[in-house]
Amino acid sequence: MKHIAILGCTGSIGTQTLNVIRRHPDLFQAEVLIAGSNAKLLIEQALEFKPNMVVIADKSKYHIVSESLQNTDIKVFAGEESICNAVEMDCVDLVMAAIVGFAGLRPTLRAIKANKTIALANKETMVVAGAIVTEEARRHNVAILPVDSEHSAIFQVLQGESQNRIDKILLTASGGPLRGKKRDQIGDVTLEEVLKHPNWSMGRKVTIDSASLMNKGLEVIEAKWLFNVEPKDIQVLVHPQSIVHSMVQFEDGSIKAQIGTPTMETPIQYALNYPFRIESYLPRFSFWEHPELTFYPPDTDTFRCLTLAYNAIERGGNMPCVLNAANEIAVQKFIDGKIRFLDIADFVSKALVEAPFIGNPSLDDLFAIDSEIRNRCNKQ
Ligand code: NDP
Repeated sequence: MKHIAILGCTGSIGTQTLNVIRRHPDLFQAEVLIAGSNAKLLIEQALEFKPNMVVIADKSKYHIVSESLQNTDIKVFAGEESICNAVEMDCVDLVMAAIVGFAGLRPTLRAIKANKTIALANKETMVVAGAIVTEEARRHNVAILPVDSEHSAIFQVLQGESQNRIDKILLTASGGPLRGKKRDQIGDVTLEEVLKHPNWSMGRKVTIDSASLMNKGLEVIEAKWLFNVEPKDIQVLVHPQSIVHSMVQFEDGSIKAQIGTPTMETPIQYALNYPFRIESYLPRFSFWEHPELTFYPPDTDTFRCLTLAYNAIERGGNMPCVLNAANEIAVQKFIDGKIRFLDIADFVSKALVEAPFIGNPSLDDLFAIDSEIRNRCNKQ
């Protein structure tokens, strides 16, 4: 029995993680549930899964949660420090890191330092602080198991290949809801159109990132850190069907792919039960129903965020942190109707040009630069 803490239990990845736990009560126990501000869903989940503890980040919601759970044995806490304390508890074996954005970094690092196995969905953690996170994981002998479907695919493909050098990672991208459109066609695209992802049902931020190709840029950076591969050796392929989840090319030219129907529950359960696979009830992929799998180069003239992410990781240092902070603010501004979709890339580009470069940032430097960029971008 694995005892699991879920950071971001009320989100898309969090609820799908609970689906996996619900189906396998013999394998997994939801030990700690951690939400941002959705008290209603957190209470429902707590009453169903009966965790040892729940934590809500938004302290103003503490009373709602604690009053609703007062007739149970479930402990209730609120605030960021309580989140960090919760993932460190002795009774936790594995932490599902599924908070969205920079907010996931601190609790994930605390879990690593407490020797917890990490199932990593929160790609922003690796983007912002990949060097520090991988070094801490090495020092504490902690496994970081990827949950992002592309990185799970690469991880699965690499099983049994530790003696072989990776020649190239072929990172697939669905292209998102705006695939095939040119700049002049998406100047006035609405939030509703951007949120209509053809293949995946995900949280708002990652869906917007998927439309701008920033998501793929963040994934290039995540892949660099997870698999120790230089960005120039990570090639993005647009693959509209989202069936080939990613591939690895080896020195002899052989390419290995991981293939399956698009569902996040497969990578989630692979990470939760690694190295053992669990039988799945989900429909099997049929080549007869999908006789054509297609691949194209990304359109980086229209979707400039991908190039910005490559530039940021090639410059290194604090630049991926700047990229991430500016993107989080720009995405929120687009959601709030304050900027247009194509402005997201301009916003991020300006932040990268203006921010001072720090070659080897400490964690404190990263927190400082993140808040400086947020303040600066919020004023624009
Ligand atoms: P959602 O927006 O659906 O969920 C985000 C979760 O984070 C919610 O539970 C939210 O709580 C919680 N949260 C937000 N801010 C805080 C905070 N300050 N403290 C504690 N909890 C917080 O996002 P997704 O599930 O879609 O994505 C989560 C991560 O996984 C992202 O990094 C994303 O890129 C990655 N990912 C997602 C995929 C997907 O299919 N969804 C696929 C691959 C990667 P609340 O709602 O209660 O406020």
